[in-house]
Amino acid sequence: MIISSESGPLPFSVEPSFFMQSAILITELRSLDVPRSHPRYRSLLAREKLADAAKKGLVVPQGLIAQGRGEAFDYLLGEKTTPPAMKAERAAAAYLVLAGHPVISVNGNVAALAARDVVKLAKSLRARIEVNLFYRTGTRAGKVAGLLSSAGAGEVLGTRPDARIPGLDSKRALCSREGIFSADVVLVPLEDGDRTEALVKMGKIVLAIDLNPMSRTALAANVTVVDELTRAIAGVARFVPAMRRDRAVAERVVRSFDNRENLEEVYECMHARLRKLRH
Ligand code: ATP
Repeated sequence: MIISSESGPLPFSVEPSFFMQSAILITELRSLDVPRSHPRYRSLLAREKLADAAKKGLVVPQGLIAQGRGEAFDYLLGEKTTPPAMKAERAAAAYLVLAGHPVISVNGNVAALAARDVVKLAKSLRARIEVNLFYRTGTRAGKVAGLLSSAGAGEVLGTRPDARIPGLDSKRALCSREGIFSADVVLVPLEDGDRTEALVKMGKIVLAIDLNPMSRTALAANVTVVDELTRAIAGVARFVPAMRRDRAVAERVVRSFDNRENLEEVYECMHARLRKLRH
């Protein structure tokens, strides 16, 4: 059976069970050579990375579902960085450059998809990296930290939590005192709403990366980059040198950024794309 996509049939054939058995899908894809020119190349690659990471115990099955939700929103945005996303990436870079104690929070999905880019960004900002898991086990935290270390990270916090985020229950509250607990600015790619709200309540500046502009995270954060994770991290990193060169510019960028206004612009981009698809 040949499955067709927007731009014609895919260059490989699969069984009808393709749609129902995602585990089999991933195994089949691994043995197939998907060309870089394939319209779904990046998405297929991301799925493959996540499936591999799930097998190794870095990513939980729920993380695969979260990726699916993200992909659906990315489709609505045309799978590219929109002008408001770029504005948010610049604002995030400005906040990070101005921060006294910036921390990048990393979960299993983020490590599986963007470990190297996160490490590079952290180094360029002298930011700490902390493993922060929704479904936390000591083993998984250790594996995520290990992946970050092999991607070049220095010290990775979060494997031996010694503080709690107030207002959250049990393991989701655990964090590192010298990391997220004492940070002034926290970058939280793919975070859940409860924790984002709790961090905002602690008085931190929260910078989120989330393709769903309607999530509680997107609404609670000070800056929400509505962009796919790897594009967003690269986008923030691109603005860091300019923001670092001139502190006054960074301060102006921060002052003029309004997250609600930016999310409105994202909705407008989605509307415009849907209108275009209908005509
Ligand atoms: P909230 O609790 O904030 O309302 P949620 O319950 O959807 O949101 P999660 O299930 O933790 O939160 O999902 C994480 C979010 O990350 C989702 O909104 C999803 O759209 C987004 N997401 C998933 N994968 C990616 C990705 N690769 N790039 C960007 N965003 C992503």
